[in-house]
This record gives sequence, C-alpha cells and structure tokens, in this order.
Amino acid sequence: MADEPKETLNPFEVAQRQIDRVGKRLKLDPGVLEILKHPKRELTVNFPVRMDDGSIRVYTGYRVQYNDALGPFKGGIRYHWNVSLDEVRALSCWMTWKCSVMGIPYGGAKGGVICNPKTMSKGENERMTRRYASAISIIIGPEKDIPAPDVYTDGQTMAWIMDTISMQMGYAVPGVVTGKPIAIGGSLGRDEATSRGLMYATREAASRLGVKLRGATVAVQGYGNVGHHYARLMAAEQGSKIVAVSDSTGGIYSPDGFDPVKVLAFKEKTGSVQGYPGTKKITNEALLELDVGILAPCALENQITSANAGRIKAKIVAEGANGPTTPEADDILYKRGVTVLPDILANGGGVTVSYFEWVQNLQEFFWTKEEVDSKLEFHMVKAFKSVWETHAKEKIDMRQAAYMVAIARVVEAYKVRGIYP
Ligand code: NAD
Repeated sequence: MADEPKETLNPFEVAQRQIDRVGKRLKLDPGVLEILKHPKRELTVNFPVRMDDGSIRVYTGYRVQYNDALGPFKGGIRYHWNVSLDEVRALSCWMTWKCSVMGIPYGGAKGGVICNPKTMSKGENERMTRRYASAISIIIGPEKDIPAPDVYTDGQTMAWIMDTISMQMGYAVPGVVTGKPIAIGGSLGRDEATSRGLMYATREAASRLGVKLRGATVAVQGYGNVGHHYARLMAAEQGSKIVAVSDSTGGIYSPDGFDPVKVLAFKEKTGSVQGYPGTKKITNEALLELDVGILAPCALENQITSANAGRIKAKIVAEGANGPTTPEADDILYKRGVTVLPDILANGGGVTVSYFEWVQNLQEFFWTKEEVDSKLEFHMVKAFKSVWETHAKEKIDMRQAAYMVAIARVVEAYKVRGIYP
C-alpha cells in the first residue's frame, strides 16, 4: 500500500473521510452526515498592514467556525506560510471532535493568517495581529467563539487580541481568548496542560495494557512546549526513563536515559538538543523506530506512515502532536498490536485547561494550580475511559473509538436541538 504523497493529502478531505467512516459504523442519517461534513461558517479577510519600511502589505486570514451544536466555537489561530482554507477547515473540524470527546461544552473552530512570522519584526507582528483580530471581531467573543494559540502564535499574540477586542468594546474582555499570560487572566497550569493530559492518557493506557511506567523507556519526537513538558512529567511523576528526544535539527539517544530538564537547559543555551553530553546523535526517522516502551510524537503531522509503521517497536504511541499518524499507518499499527492514543483524546488536555481559563474569566474567580491539575486529571480519565470502552466493545482502534464517542455526542445534540426552523 503506497502512501499518498503528503503534498496532495488534502487535510479537509482526510477529515471528511474520517467522518464518513465513523458515520457508517454509527449508521447515521445521511442528512446528519452531510451537516457534520460541512463547516457552519467561513470568514476570509484581506487586510492591510503597514510594514516597518513604510510600505503597505495586504494579508489574507481565515476563521472557520465548524460546528457549535455543543457550545461556543473554540480553536487556535495559526500563523504560517502554508495556511490554506482547507487546512483551517480540517483543523476546525478536528477541534469539534476534540472538544466533544473531552466532554467540554464547546464547538470547533480554527483561524489562520498566511504570513511568515519568522521574517516579521515584533511591531509588524503586533499590527498584523491587531488588524486580523479587528477583522474577525464580528464573529468572535466569549459567548461566540474563543480563539487560542497554535503554531507560531503564543500568549503575547493572545494578549494583543484581548486588548484589541477590549478597546473596541470599551471594557476589558479577558474571556475572548485563552492561552493568555497570567497577568491578564491566564490560568495556572495552562503551559504544561497538554503534556500533563498526555501523561494521564499514557498512564491510563499503560495500566490497562499491563505496561509498568516506572523504568519504562520513552522516546519523544519534538522538544517544544508539548515534548519537553511531557518528558519532564513522565520522568518526575511516573519514574519513566527518557532515552531519546529530538528537535528540528535532529535527536539524541542514550539507552541509560538522561535528565530531560538538563537537556532543555542545554537546548536553550545551544539551540539544539544534539551534542548533549553522554548521548549519541540520532535522526528523527531513527528515533521513531527505537525499541522503547512509549513513543510520543510531539512535533509535526504525517510522521508515522505506511513506510515506517511496520518498524515501530513501541507498545504505546502517545500523540502529543496533531495528525502525526496517517490513516494507512493506523491500520498497520492496530494489526501489529501497537496502541495509538489518538491526538483528539491524547492532547486534549490543552483545550481542557483553556476551557478552565475561560470559566475562571467568566466567574472572575481563579483556581490554584492543584485545582487545575486535579480537574484536568478528572476530565482526562473520564474521556479515556469512554474511548477505551468503545474500543474494546467495538473491537476497533482507539482513534475510531474516539471519533465514535465524539460524533455520537454531536449527533445527540442535533437530535435534541432539532433542525431549525
Ligand atoms: P513548539 O513549536 O513549541 O514545538 C515543536 C517542536 O517540534 C520544536 O522542538 C521543533 O524543533 C520540533 N520540530 C520541528 N520540526 C521537526 C521535525 N522535522 N522533526 C522533529 N522535530 C521537529 O510546538 P508545540 O506547541 O509543542 O506543538 C507541537 C505539536 O503539538 C503540534 O502538532 C501542535 O499542533 C500540537 N499541540 C499542541 C498543543 C499545545 O498546547 N501547545 C495542544 C495540542 C496539540
């Protein structure tokens, strides 16, 4: 079975194929299936930004609001030169299922601007962000649609959006975005939430599969926000042994393990994990195929494909990244007995704590880090349990089970709400 070339793998077609597959299993009404395969609202904005040299550039941005059967729209904003309407549609669709499977009262959305933030000054980035926020302000708001950071956007971006919307309204509107700095209403624990949730998902899977996490070997692809917190938490809270990590420049490996916190400090000083004392260099491809207990892809999409799925040796693949495994690879891994913890469940801790941030903003009452962590654990364990039970009952992989749980909940919302008018 040949892998479809990545360039022609239209993400929205993949998302629609996934809905069709689960729709058949759930024996969905064809009309309801059609609703689920279409975004509710799509906004394209072209807006001018004054650059540092005085020239004017027109940027194109999108906000796609996929489905709000369960509650207000929720989803990140991506700044990338490859942003396209179909990519934003697919990401907004996946957000719908992620919120649903996590049991949080949100629909799914996503935004993006076609730009290269790496070549922009901070001032240019701020002006572009504020103008984009202003352009999409007609459809976002704490009760309508709540953006968050994604690739190449961060807490600072969210602070500019929050300020822009607050200026337009004439009063502070912290609940319009999540992933904000603590100083303006961000939540404690948000920075590590995705990784902490991933650790809970790994723990739940390991206990059901009879895998001991104490001393278990772990390889992590991608040493950014998700990857480094996951490595740190798995070592500190589960007693696992981190034997390999990587970033865009390549990876490191030591069968004896190493201290993930020291590796992060080394990367911050030198710009790369490679060269860390006592480890040998390894490629990103080789890292995926190491003989380890747990493999956590925490970087990019399409990393595990039909080309390498047959050589993955880990017992558990914990998807910190969105879309790291292709549908073809999923089938191969399932047949080989590798348990894949699918992205919409495994990395759902991030959006769960974003939800907590929004709740705290609306209540104007803030929780301790311990409260955030214990509520996150409750949500992750509950979501994991419902997916695991469906996977065992239906004899399907965890991804299909997660989609079944998520889609069934959205369909139930349509049933009780009815079709307007
Ligand atoms: P990040 O930018 O902080 O880190 C990404 C890491 O991947 C960096 O270390 C980078 O060097 C590395 N990388 C880039 N190209 C690589 C390559 N070719 N091979 C190996 N490593 C490479 O991003 P992040 O926030 O950690 O997000 C990582 C993934 O997790 C993305 O897929 C993102 O959509 C997903 N995710 C993030 C969150 C969150 O809360 N941050 C939540 C859910 C999902």
